[in-house]
Amino acid sequence: MMKIRKKVKLKKKVFLLMALGIMIPLAFSSFKNISFAMPVLGTDKESKSNLINEYINNLSNLVEKKEIDSRFVNVISLEDDRYISKLFNFKTGEEVNIESIIKPEMVEEFWSKVNKLLYLKYPNFISDVLSKNDKTNTYFVKDNELVIYYYDYEIDPLPNEELSLHINYNEIKDYMDITIKLDKTYENEDGSKIDLNKKIVALTFDDGPGPYTSRLIDILNNNKAHATFFMLGKNLSIYKDAVKKAYDNKMEIGYHSYNHKNFKRQKLETIVEEFNESNEILKSITGDTFHLIRPPYGSINEKIKESLDASFILWNVDTEDWRHKNTDYLKDYVLEKAQDGNIILFHDIHKSSVDAIEKLLPYLYVEGYQVVTVSSLANVTKTDLELHKSYRYFTR
Ligand SMILES: [Zn+2]
Repeated sequence: MMKIRKKVKLKKKVFLLMALGIMIPLAFSSFKNISFAMPVLGTDKESKSNLINEYINNLSNLVEKKEIDSRFVNVISLEDDRYISKLFNFKTGEEVNIESIIKPEMVEEFWSKVNKLLYLKYPNFISDVLSKNDKTNTYFVKDNELVIYYYDYEIDPLPNEELSLHINYNEIKDYMDITIKLDKTYENEDGSKIDLNKKIVALTFDDGPGPYTSRLIDILNNNKAHATFFMLGKNLSIYKDAVKKAYDNKMEIGYHSYNHKNFKRQKLETIVEEFNESNEILKSITGDTFHLIRPPYGSINEKIKESLDASFILWNVDTEDWRHKNTDYLKDYVLEKAQDGNIILFHDIHKSSVDAIEKLLPYLYVEGYQVVTVSSLANVTKTDLELHKSYRYFTR
């Protein structure tokens, strides 16, 4: 699949270059086996440039040749399904590295910016590895951006996608030692933005907040994931910091009754009173109120639904994590059951559940899932969450 896609990409480029009147010899048998060896440099500048030109012309899979600032040339070719990039100083004829186009005193800032953008794009289990910058990095010096492809990094679990970073020059303009064009508008690649091309599931956590909630929020953040927490009214004040942290980190907070009584066994009046009281507590912590309710045990009827101004959120994947306290079991169970649009039920009051989420999220990522809140999932599936109605999952 990957191979086909790249070949198509290559053909387009070749066509483009042809159209520009640049001849590309497709088969240079003498160079084929040593196509990535450095040209032997002559003594004078002119012969060095000629040798670089010869090297470029002899690349059988030339993808792109770009002159930069009249001083450098960036040559990209394709070999064994991966990009090979070489940067030459056209005047001295030497092959140089990417730092040559960065102001010497800004090299450190440049790399720290690259790493910051890596962490913005990828979950930590990927960016932790890529940010070491100690394997094969391939650079495309484009008109408006610098693109880095990352090869040979050992990531576990292994993502089934090309790992790359597109850095708009606006981000690094102060560090560049070459003349660059700046876009007026650009957006960073942000891994927490919802990608409609991916499968999407909602993770939900009931019965908290509790002693593990804060750590769970960190784990979600580290994995570019968001979740909905259905909290007990009585726990809100006790774990105020966790409630605030969830809210500040764009997690969603729903209501799960005041103290986990079955709604059907409570007086309607009490249910409403407790809901209002809990709303006041949440408002005092976050400034917001509850819009979603998950009834304890999923136990609900029309009368109760009519009495509370919220949407009712049930689930369609129940991990029974209160019973299965084995992290590998929980991870495998979700990976087996998850499908686009699912609402998955966990409880953040069990340490084993939080540990399981830490294991699970990288696997969901490499399986192509994005993990979002219930409201985001509804939004993505163009479902209007109506008051007094209940939902178990969403479809698109
Ligand atoms: Zn519960």
